[in-house]
Amino acid sequence: KLSSREFHPDNTVVDVDGLKIGDGSFITMAGPCSIEGLDQIRETARMAKAGGASVLRGGAFKPRTSPYAFQGLEEEGLKYIRQAADEFDMKVITEVMDEAHIDMVAEYSDILQIGARNMQNYKLLSAVGQTGKPIGLKRGIAGTIDEWLNAAEYIAVSGKSDVIFIERGIRTYETATRNTFDLSAIPLIKKLSHFPIIADPSHGTGVWDLVTPMARASVAAGADGMIVEIHPDPANAWSDGQQSLNEKTYLRMMDEVNVLVKAM
Ligand code: PEP
Ligand code: MN
Repeated sequence: KLSSREFHPDNTVVDVDGLKIGDGSFITMAGPCSIEGLDQIRETARMAKAGGASVLRGGAFKPRTSPYAFQGLEEEGLKYIRQAADEFDMKVITEVMDEAHIDMVAEYSDILQIGARNMQNYKLLSAVGQTGKPIGLKRGIAGTIDEWLNAAEYIAVSGKSDVIFIERGIRTYETATRNTFDLSAIPLIKKLSHFPIIADPSHGTGVWDLVTPMARASVAAGADGMIVEIHPDPANAWSDGQQSLNEKTYLRMMDEVNVLVKAM
């Protein structure tokens, strides 16, 4: 298989318009769950950059459990996140949910995110694989390692795009956390595939004060980076506020993570 370590023994270093992911450094993607407006995404970009993040995250197309929940600002949001990222010299990662929107999202975003709910949307995987943009591939909500590797293979086989695996937790019997963060997936994916893997301790736990410990653990487990949700005012976030860090807790996390990165 094209995505297997057997086929390609050396690590693939993913080049995001000059930013290298998987080269032995630890990169951080940070931003709100949802883009809520220009002021909010600019303020969050400022926070993200102050902590050392190089990629700005934020959803403009949101896969919400309820059809009555906020669904995202769509193209307006894409314009805002691009503007905010450019202002702070950052790259953009944002989710594409629908084949019909791939060209639009690719116009504004440096990395295309495939959400957990679409890990096995094979037509979408094949289509994003033809863009040549790096694909951030979230693990499915109940995705096995083998299913996740096969999803990456759909991307790898269909064209020019590289994959960045994103471990975001899986559903188990446990309800104290939103998902069960599978730390072992990090060394396991690194063993089985040459593509980089980053951690998403925000969706992985769903609880803001568990995010920093799991971020630290991800460094120790050998992740190539992380994606975290931050917000200027988590209590009033339009989505996922309960798992979002504010400026103070985010900056503290980054200090702790950097100590471990240096020690690795
Ligand atoms: C997100 O990144 O905000 C998101 C919806 O993630 P997931 O697809 O992992 O649930
Ligand atoms: Mn979210």
